[in-house]
Amino acid sequence: MSSPAEPAPSAPEPGDRPRLVMAAPRRGKPPRHLSDLTLEQRREAVAELGLPGFRANQLSTHWYSRLVDDPAAMPDLPAPVREQLSAALLPDLLHAVRRWETDAGATVKTLWRLHDGALVESVLMRYGARAGSDLPGAATALQGLGDEADDDGPAPRRSRVTMCVSSQAGCGMACPFCATGQQGLTRNLSTAEIVEQVLAGARSLARGEVAGGQGRVSNVVFMGMGEPLANYSAVVGAVRRLTQPAPDGLGMSRRGITVSTVGLAPAIDRLADEGLPVTLAVSLHAPDDELRDELVPINTRYKVAEVLDSAWRYAARTGRRVSIEYALIRDVNDQAWRADLLGRLLKGRLVHVNLIPLNPTPGSKWTASRSRDERAFVRALEAHGVAVTVRDTRGREIEGACGQLAALEPGDAGGSAGAAAGAPTGRA
Ligand code: SF4
Repeated sequence: MSSPAEPAPSAPEPGDRPRLVMAAPRRGKPPRHLSDLTLEQRREAVAELGLPGFRANQLSTHWYSRLVDDPAAMPDLPAPVREQLSAALLPDLLHAVRRWETDAGATVKTLWRLHDGALVESVLMRYGARAGSDLPGAATALQGLGDEADDDGPAPRRSRVTMCVSSQAGCGMACPFCATGQQGLTRNLSTAEIVEQVLAGARSLARGEVAGGQGRVSNVVFMGMGEPLANYSAVVGAVRRLTQPAPDGLGMSRRGITVSTVGLAPAIDRLADEGLPVTLAVSLHAPDDELRDELVPINTRYKVAEVLDSAWRYAARTGRRVSIEYALIRDVNDQAWRADLLGRLLKGRLVHVNLIPLNPTPGSKWTASRSRDERAFVRALEAHGVAVTVRDTRGREIEGACGQLAALEPGDAGGSAGAAAGAPTGRA
């Protein structure tokens, strides 16, 4: 409850904020890349170059199994073949503009410039590399991104590296508390532009460039810039590429993948039919339509009950526990009655709630909840038997929430709008 001395911040007036945009603007497509193609399509592409199909397998094995990105380090391919394949299937898709580290090097955020100047971000987060590790994640009592991948509770804190990737440049969902939402939608990413964010992290780990030594990516969360289910085909393609065994793809466990959504109910139903039992994370942020219409404008199309019905169908179809993401915003959505209402909506369901302390941005009128309100919110949910965790807030020191780096960088993502507006935190 807000005190008289501290008036509750209100949502912005509708006229002040960006419009909800469902269809991505059409822009020049990124060049075709190996990671856009199935193994069969790669064989066809190789055949078009006049080469035998097994060259596609060789190239794919180097790319996904050995994580080689330098054609010169593919000795079983003759030099002229390497050049042909490289020119046809390995265009440079991501150019690192800036790189930030925090948590003693265990969190690395990268700002990428794409072929057309659009800017996107990815974050690598390493949690407690080994027993007795001095990495920050080893001792934290808070849950990190990707933990929800295990139905039996948070994953054991060892050797876990989560990559948080972007699925769109900007976002059309216009959530008023989110830096990315203030930028608007520039375009959808291609499957390869998504997959290559993960591969960049995987290579960095394999080369021992991340604090904690060599390692591999264990979890991928689609919680960077963009609404993943608004770029459905490319995101599902990326999930397939990440989870197919080599040489088709990276061979990650599907249980290690989390696809988030702000609540595109029909797309949740479609995802349930894909035969990809990834974890679904629904960014709810309010249990009542009145507030959610303001915080999450897509709620004006798909109401809380409709979104949750789709989520429960997803859980029933896949057997996967649904994550409910809830950014705690002081005096906006953190009242005891809202915690109780949320608990009643979720009671008895295959669900886990992640409470995310809002990452305040200078100039924003919205900020994280008080500790006492956060604790009371947790207790209210637990009283309904709902599993709940307060999420780790990695990367705050590096403008860690989605959209904040792009908002600081001049570029072609409408990027300065968020900073100029003092837009608060990114995806939550
Ligand atoms: S919170 Fe997520 S869905 Fe909403 S504007 Fe930000 S990136 Fe888009």
